Amino acid sequence: MSIVLCPDTLTLNTPNTCAICSEKKRLRSMTTGRSGLDGRRNFICSSHLDDPLELVEGWTNFLVSQHQNGTIGSPELTPLIVEQGVFVEHCTTIPQRRSPSQHIARHLYARCAEGPALVITDQPKDYLSAVMKKWWRLIWRTKQEQASTLLRLRISVFAKQCYGMERTTMRTLSQPLTDTDVYFALPEEVSALGGVTQFQTIYVISELDDSAIAKLADAMSAGAVLVRYQ
Ligand SMILES: [Zn+2]
Repeated sequence: MSIVLCPDTLTLNTPNTCAICSEKKRLRSMTTGRSGLDGRRNFICSSHLDDPLELVEGWTNFLVSQHQNGTIGSPELTPLIVEQGVFVEHCTTIPQRRSPSQHIARHLYARCAEGPALVITDQPKDYLSAVMKKWWRLIWRTKQEQASTLLRLRISVFAKQCYGMERTTMRTLSQPLTDTDVYFALPEEVSALGGVTQFQTIYVISELDDSAIAKLADAMSAGAVLVRYQ
């Protein structure tokens, strides 16, 4: 998994600090997190998505430190800086070890607060139930971690994360468009949509060629993330 394309204002050679382990890494070994309310884009090592405990713990530690530094919780004081261009990430999935559904659930863990997401797949119903299953497993793990701490701030960050995750709605696009957080759709359903600017994260499991991916990235809004599974 790596970021292969990013807005012009960032370069692939610049080491960026991981929000979870604080190591400086090149963007090629990172994945795009969400924008902090300080207006800065956060990145995390893509390897953290391999271990759910590391992800849940690490992300919570990061949010706690943001609270302590006062960089979240005051959105009216710190407007977001929107990057021009779209982040494109490549992910090679290894059968048996890591399925796209598991990866999508973990990637969404750090992205769900950013806005609606879309999964483009030839099997929307199958992936909808698979991602939901993995999603609820992550919620269960987050609750376990919440139960094992006595620190008030950590408890509140875990609780907020669980609250958001439990209210995350997932549907196939064939159902009427309502306030849904994660849609699962066939490529032709996406073409018929007439626009994808509302999606902050798009996951492509279907085999789309390079030109279709470039066209999709062009149609996305600035600062959004496109993850391509191959
Ligand atoms: Zn890291």
